[in-house]
Formats: sequence, C-alpha cells, structure tokens
Amino acid sequence: MTTRPPTGSRSARDLERYAALFSTRTKVMKSSAMRDLMAVIARDDIISLAGGAPDMTVFPAEVMAKVMSQLAAEQSARALQYGPTEGLEDVKEAIIEVMAAEGTIGVDPQDILVTTGGQQVIDLFCRTLIDPGDVIIAEAPTYPGAVPCFGAYEADVVQVEMDSDGMRIDELEAVLDQLARENRRPKFIYTVPTFHNPAGVTMSLPRRKRLVEVAAERELLVLEDNPYGLLRYEGDPLPTLYSLDGGQFVVYLGTFSKIFAAGVRLGWAVAPGPVYHKLNIGKQAADLCSSPLSQLFVSTYFRTGEWPQLLSAFKERYHRRRDVMLDALAEFFGPEAVWTHPQGGLFLWATLPDFIDTTDLLARALEENVAFVPGRGAYLDGRGGSSMRLNFSYVSDEDIREGVRRIGAIVHEQVAL
Ligand code: PMP
Repeated sequence: MTTRPPTGSRSARDLERYAALFSTRTKVMKSSAMRDLMAVIARDDIISLAGGAPDMTVFPAEVMAKVMSQLAAEQSARALQYGPTEGLEDVKEAIIEVMAAEGTIGVDPQDILVTTGGQQVIDLFCRTLIDPGDVIIAEAPTYPGAVPCFGAYEADVVQVEMDSDGMRIDELEAVLDQLARENRRPKFIYTVPTFHNPAGVTMSLPRRKRLVEVAAERELLVLEDNPYGLLRYEGDPLPTLYSLDGGQFVVYLGTFSKIFAAGVRLGWAVAPGPVYHKLNIGKQAADLCSSPLSQLFVSTYFRTGEWPQLLSAFKERYHRRRDVMLDALAEFFGPEAVWTHPQGGLFLWATLPDFIDTTDLLARALEENVAFVPGRGAYLDGRGGSSMRLNFSYVSDEDIREGVRRIGAIVHEQVAL
C-alpha cells in the first residue's frame, strides 16, 4: 500500500517525488509577494499595511442579506446555473454604469467580457498574447500581483520608470525605439494609470494623450488596469486611456473589488473583437464562466441605485485614512525617507536610503507585529530593494498610525547602525 504525503508538506523528499512531473514553466513561476504574506498578515496581532484589501465593514450586512434574499426569491435558478462565458447581460448593465461614472461613455456590451476578478484579465491577456520570451512593457514598479503572472508565461518584462506624473512616455518611446532596432515588437504595454498600485501616482493628461498616440502610431496594445479610478479623494478626474483611444488599441480592465466587494470576484475586460474572441476562448478553458451567483448579486444590488452612496462611504473612509498615513509618515519616518502623495486609491510607495533592504526590514517589522510589501515584489529584475508599499484602506486609523510608528522606529534603528 502506498501512503499519500501529507497535504501541503514541502519536505525535500516530497518535492523529489513529484519533481520530474512539473512543467518547465514552473521553474520560473514565482509566488506573489503579497500572497506569501497573506497567512502572516491574517494574524490578529499583526497590523497589516501589506494587503490591498478594501474595508468591507463599509458594506452593511443587512444590505447583503436584503439583496441575497431578493435574488433568491426572484432568480434562484439562474443564479445557481452555469452562465455564458462572456457574462450575463444583467451585470454588463452595471459595468456600463460604472464606466460611465468615470466618463467612459458608450461602451458596447458586446465588447465586455465578465471575468473572475480583474486578475483573470491579466492572466488571460498573457495566455492569449505571450509566447516565452515575448516582451511586455510595464511600469517600474508594477502591480505586484501581475509579476507572477508575467513570470508564469515567461515574458520578458521591460519596466519603464515613473515619476509623479506616472509612466515616463519619453522613456517608453526610447525603449520602443531600442526594441524596434532589435526587431522586437512588444506584445502589450501594461499600465495602471490612475492611483497606481503600488506607486500611488497618476498619469497626467498630456502623458495619457501621448501614450494613446504612441500606441496608435506603432499599433501596440495597451492594457489599462483601472481598479481605483473612482476612488479619487482630491484633484480633478482624468479621462481613461480607453476613452481617449476609443477602444482601438487600449483594452480596458475593470473590477468590482474596490468599488463594491472583492469577495464577489468579478472583473471585466473591454476589448476589440479579435482580442475579445481570443480572451473568450482562453476563459472557456480557465473556468467556463464567472459565477452567475456573484453576477446576479452585483446586478441586483446595482439595480437598487444605492451604489454611488456605497462608493462615497468607501471614499470617505479611505480619504481619512490616507491623511492619517501621510501625517504619520511625516511624524515617524524622518528626512531619510521619501513617499508619494496619492490623490486616490489604496496605496503609497515609500523609498528609504539605498543601504536599507526592505525585505530584511520586513523580517524585523514582523517581530514588531507590523507588515508591509517589500518593493522588490513590484519588479522582475531585483530592483525596488529599498522601497515599500503601504496600504491605507484596510486597518483602522489608530492602527495605521501605530503601524507607521513601528516601521519608522525600525528604519531609525537601521539608519543609526
Ligand atoms: N490590478 C490591480 C492594479 C490591482 O491592484 C488588483 C487588486 N489588488 C487587481 C488587478 C486584481 O483585482 P481583482 O482580481 O480583485 O479584481
């Protein structure tokens, strides 16, 4: 009789047993910096400035109960059934409303693919466009959750610097020229133009316009990842890249995670026909369809017309917490650190003197029961070692202040060494 190795066991012997079975791809697959931290930061005694989670206590439990019972009464058979791969029309109506609220008008429901979170769009995009060695252009730093995805498809990721106005388009053009000389055409440009995760900066209007022009001139796809656009706490709204480009070369990625509920695991892509078709086929293989239960939960809720109030409640809370974090950084981090001032979203990016390695710093921070995402997780080339991502959406005002105080004290320890 053979015995099954214990679930989740990672002993050398177990690994050896299965080693020959794994694809070559798994050798380059990396675990996400954030997911690795999830187990630790779930501990009650840890102040986590590491996650990217919304504060779902904003969503009243009674509202959830009311919507769920309405859904059960009216559409239980549909909710409990499979749905079409492209998504239910009901939820597409909500998506169109959400996009219109940010000024992206006239989206054709036929161009919308409903997905299992925005994360699935990144995966499907890579799955349908990337062969090993193909070039993806991303910002430096880039979304830490995209890093393992780019790695899994063995992309060659070229990261373009950012400043307080977002991705440097002059540098992007230089990179594109260089690649053209090498006869390499990037498969797509991945960007989070608004309230960047992790950098906390927003691409200026002139750069948005230029990026869209560059994409059209060179016929390059842009994946505009926009989970945070509606979470603006100050400054004037900017048009999405998708609205500037009219859906020619820009594929839009949206999600309900930060404006409604992350637990419904629903996002979407808006893509031109040929790209849409491939993404759809990719999704069929991945999960047949996104949960109809979740989709109808979203659409039932959106039909109540209450979502703008929910959005305001999220914004009010995060705005205040952002201010608490900025004040705490000014008080506890001292002159050796710099950090971004996000006008919205959930994150800011702090950079310490070069000699401080934030991966080491995290180990020390965990001893003090506080966590953040070390900057290296936002790069594919080992950079980012002296930076960190700090989240201000998830923990209370008091914990933000205390968390920043503890990290600041550890930074001072290092500086004094
Ligand atoms: N893109 C970015 C930039 C994100 O910050 C996130 C979530 N933190 C996602 C995509 C994926 O989100 P979800 O799958 O919950 O929609």
